[in-house]
Amino acid sequence: TNALEIKQLKKVYATGVEALRGIDLAVKEGDFYALLGPNGAGKSTTIGIITSLVNKTSGQVKVFGYDIDKDLELAKKQIGLVPQEFNFNPFETVQQIVVNQAGYYGVPRKEALVRSEIYLKQADLWEKRHTRARMLSGGMKRRLMIARALMHKPRLLILDEPTAGVDIELRREMWAFLSELNESGTTIILTTHYLEEAEMLCRNIGIIQSGELIENTSMKKLLSKL
Ligand code: ADP
Ligand code: ADP
Repeated sequence: TNALEIKQLKKVYATGVEALRGIDLAVKEGDFYALLGPNGAGKSTTIGIITSLVNKTSGQVKVFGYDIDKDLELAKKQIGLVPQEFNFNPFETVQQIVVNQAGYYGVPRKEALVRSEIYLKQADLWEKRHTRARMLSGGMKRRLMIARALMHKPRLLILDEPTAGVDIELRREMWAFLSELNESGTTIILTTHYLEEAEMLCRNIGIIQSGELIENTSMKKLLSKL
């Protein structure tokens, strides 16, 4: 099965900017896939469309076989999104943030509490569960965003530039956490503008430039060409 299938995806913003000019790509279940490209290439637009935050102009998107035009709710349930910016309430505690998120997906509170222990432990945040999010370090905040995205048990985790502006030590810590998640069965797609990050983590890679996918291959093949 494909976790994600995109066909002839186009996006023209109201401003006239052609952000995506007909993208085709497929990501297999279990894969760790990087969408690499410079600023303005169309990475966030692609992710926005997959997660239904941005309307597409034309084309088709399927998430685990669910077409976002026909089965949007089912498609959405398969996805956990980690946006680039911190967007939790800084005055809530770590545990409140993840438990509330599960609530939005209809997970009963008791079950949400059970899951919060699992994912906060995995993110090495269990000791901080009663701490207000604003008090966390940058690395902890990023891990909190990931734990929150996992609370409804998505089969596909999507991260938009998870390590943008993060120092190298923290980046390594994030990489280890993400590798572990992928090994435990979660399909992961991330956007990045660091080739090094894609190289460290990903099995397959798509390179996007000016709204076009100019390369879509395995990491191994790409590296053998460079
Ligand atoms: P959609 O077609 O997905 O509804 P729009 O084209 O209506 O998106 O744009 C959404 C909003 O973002 C608009 O208010 C637009 O003015 C604003 N916007 C314009 N240019 C940019 C940009 N380069 N980056 C981010 N937002 C922008
Ligand atoms: P990336 O994530 O690779 O940096 P984006 O998808 O954010 O690229 O942007 C692709 C192009 O679309 C850029 O030219 C950007 O300025 C433009 N863009 C992004 N969001 C909007 C928006 N809401 N309205 C208008 N233009 C936008």
